[in-house]
Amino acid sequence: MSLSRSQAGTSAPARPDAIRQHNLALILGEVHRDGALTRAELTTRLGVSRSTVGSLVADLIALGLVEERVPSGGDRVGRPSHVVGPHSTGPVVVAADVDVTHVTCAAVGIGGEVLARSTVATGRRRTTPQHVAKLVAAAATALAAESGRTVLAVGVSVPGTVHRQTRTVGMAPNLGWRDARLGDLLAARLEPQVTVTVGNDADLSVLAELRRGSARGCDDVVYVIGRVGVGAGIVVNGAPLQGREGRAGEIGHNVVDTGGPECHCGKRGCLETMIGDAALLTMAGRHGEPTEHEVAAVFDDARAGDEAALSAVRTIAGYLGQALGNLVNTLDPQRVVLGGSLSGVLELARGDIEDALERYAFDPGHHPVELVLPRFGVDSALMGAAELAFAGLLGDPASTQVLVG
Ligand SMILES: [Zn+2]
Repeated sequence: MSLSRSQAGTSAPARPDAIRQHNLALILGEVHRDGALTRAELTTRLGVSRSTVGSLVADLIALGLVEERVPSGGDRVGRPSHVVGPHSTGPVVVAADVDVTHVTCAAVGIGGEVLARSTVATGRRRTTPQHVAKLVAAAATALAAESGRTVLAVGVSVPGTVHRQTRTVGMAPNLGWRDARLGDLLAARLEPQVTVTVGNDADLSVLAELRRGSARGCDDVVYVIGRVGVGAGIVVNGAPLQGREGRAGEIGHNVVDTGGPECHCGKRGCLETMIGDAALLTMAGRHGEPTEHEVAAVFDDARAGDEAALSAVRTIAGYLGQALGNLVNTLDPQRVVLGGSLSGVLELARGDIEDALERYAFDPGHHPVELVLPRFGVDSALMGAAELAFAGLLGDPASTQVLVG
């Protein structure tokens, strides 16, 4: 893996002043979020002079973060404006999405382009934090080589509560983890210049969809992710709801039926035992592991008219609608994104979800909540992990100077 370093604490050249740093971050943020933009568009968005934009862009080019090209052809009259886009050989982050049955990693460039990816099946066998750290570190090295780019940071999504500052997974019942110092374990396997961050899968999913996906422009949104576990990433008044120790949104462990199936958290009848992937397979009469492949097969069969499969999906839709009713009563979101296998439930049984929501939400017809699919499909958490990893660079582009060679 090639290296990066921070200028902080070194004898590097003087840092730009605060306004310049702010403006560099604004330009890189715009290009990261919206892709290539003309200098004219950047000038309008930043509200600064054209020459200032030219100078800021020159700095970002020198840092190896963006590049400019002059559009050719077209029918525009007069001098064309330069187009500023992510640098074609710029640095990347490595995003990792750790789930119960597999770990997916990707090298992601500025602008969100996935340059290379890999998935390792981990099976039902509960895997340790040490093993996951080893897998992610190996994938980061391989993806850096495959993409030929410098890795600045690694962001990891996990299906459990996360204390962001200490990069510790508090509790991940489906992995059997408690107080796992995943960030430290991973950092110890990477070069010290590579920043490591860790976040909860639902929190990162809503981050990705809010910034670049189907929740963009929405100040009050909930992303409900359904895989083996179930959780919610919540944004209220434009700000993520984390709770005291990163435990907010664990709706998968709200008890729906006190006499229901045992949950890995130790209780019975938690929501995820009613609508999670294992429940879907059981209701559909399947006995395989709750892998993406097995879950996709249930949805495929339901689409093809298999009654048991469709009945399982519709039953889950009813429980899901009830859970959404409780969420709507508590948070009053404008939009709810249904991710993971819940996307399949929405596609096949939207009516059942909406009927239950109607039944359980308070005054539901007054401000109907929008139920939408995630733009990033099953990759919301992965893309959110990339966003988390990019935070340092996007906040202060000049703080990271890439070492060439
Ligand atoms: Zn539980």
